[in-house]
Amino acid sequence: MNIKEIHQLFLNTSGVCTDTRKIQKNQIYFALKGDHFDGNKFVNEAFKKGASYAIVDDYSLRNQPNCVFVENTLDTLQSLANFHRNYLSIPIIGITGSNGKTTTKKLVNSLLSKKFKTQATQGNLNNHIGVPLTLLSFHSQTEYGIVEMGANHQKEIDFLCSIATPDYGLITNFGKAHLEGFGGVEGVIKGKSELYQYLSKKNNGIAFINKDDAKQVELTKQIKTISVGRTAAADYQFELHQSFPFIKFSFKDTTLTVSLSGEYNFQNVINAVGIAIYFGVEIDLIKRALKEFEPEENRSQFIQKKSHKILLDAYNANPSSMEASIKNFSQHQNEKSLILGDMFEIGKDAEKEHFNIYKLCQQEGFNQAYFCGRLFYRALENEILPKGYQVFETYEALAASIQKSFSENQFILIKGSRGMQLERILAVL
Ligand code: ATP
Ligand code: MG
Repeated sequence: MNIKEIHQLFLNTSGVCTDTRKIQKNQIYFALKGDHFDGNKFVNEAFKKGASYAIVDDYSLRNQPNCVFVENTLDTLQSLANFHRNYLSIPIIGITGSNGKTTTKKLVNSLLSKKFKTQATQGNLNNHIGVPLTLLSFHSQTEYGIVEMGANHQKEIDFLCSIATPDYGLITNFGKAHLEGFGGVEGVIKGKSELYQYLSKKNNGIAFINKDDAKQVELTKQIKTISVGRTAAADYQFELHQSFPFIKFSFKDTTLTVSLSGEYNFQNVINAVGIAIYFGVEIDLIKRALKEFEPEENRSQFIQKKSHKILLDAYNANPSSMEASIKNFSQHQNEKSLILGDMFEIGKDAEKEHFNIYKLCQQEGFNQAYFCGRLFYRALENEILPKGYQVFETYEALAASIQKSFSENQFILIKGSRGMQLERILAVL
């Protein structure tokens, strides 16, 4: 069967699924292989649960009823997604960057959906499997597609662009994330800018950029851009009134608020507002959508727990987002504490970066800071820590200590890499 024929099957089903635990009636099951599993082994289960077809690449299944044998299931999923994207021919906005992709995607979707039928990446499905699944979730009613693209090494964004072929692109920022795979910050800039490269080759490709970011301006000289920023040189100019505890800003004579915290989120917000204005969403609708906006799980959430007020930002962390979060949080005047977990995927500079974060906490005047994880432990084990500062090699040790002694009435920032799952600490605070 060729891609066109598989696409015809796809149009008559209720979508695709790659996980038999989540499969729904009348879906096509794509049997993918991973390092530790082979989806071909679950084909019968998929049919039992109501799948109408299975795309398989195990030769022994080639004659099974309703199985479509292909050379490579993943390649087929990606080709089908690209075919479907061309078939629908709707405008697609690709979003990449080191930090804030999911937040920005959700913001863009919230704002555009006030006026249009939109479809966006679910959760964080932003890789070589997630991007195809996102594209295949778009349907004949969809007017705008919003696709989050993640990457931790060179040529990955280039590849995702070849599948999603975005008409519009936005890079949230260039930061110290996935330094290991990209080869330093310059590597990150090069890797993420593959989106700009792609748009420059595309007819009528447009990059949404932040005019206050000299790097973005420099990298987009050859592309048509629409810009936001605080500078008067931006196409859409915004003024920031406050960024803590929540963001308040204005566009022309409209004041807008959103329950996100920090200047870094202000960048995400104006990026999204710029896109919405460009596509013709009225400012009053934008204002309403921002008011209704709720951040995704564990991302800059405010929580009240016993005597504490908590800013839970435990979804993820890397040196840039950690620094941005700590600096933002330090503006708070009252009793404030930090509970910070390890930042992963930094590579050879890991110890130094963790030490720098410790120094930053002191500079910013925090009296109580708890650090958790093997990397913080290694960075600080020979350091004489000031009063109120403690380091724990394991989560269990951190939890035990917090249970025993933690000042009351604190404003607490909780942040660490996803693997640290620091949100667990809420249970003992
Ligand atoms: P992932 O790579 O896991 O997909 P992401 O780029 O989608 O991450 P988000 O999930 O939106 O990012 O945000 C993760 C965390 O990054 C937030 O909780 C916040 O602390 C931080 N962050 C968000 N936006 C920015 C930004 N513009 N600059 C620096 N840090 C940011
Ligand atoms: Mg994300």
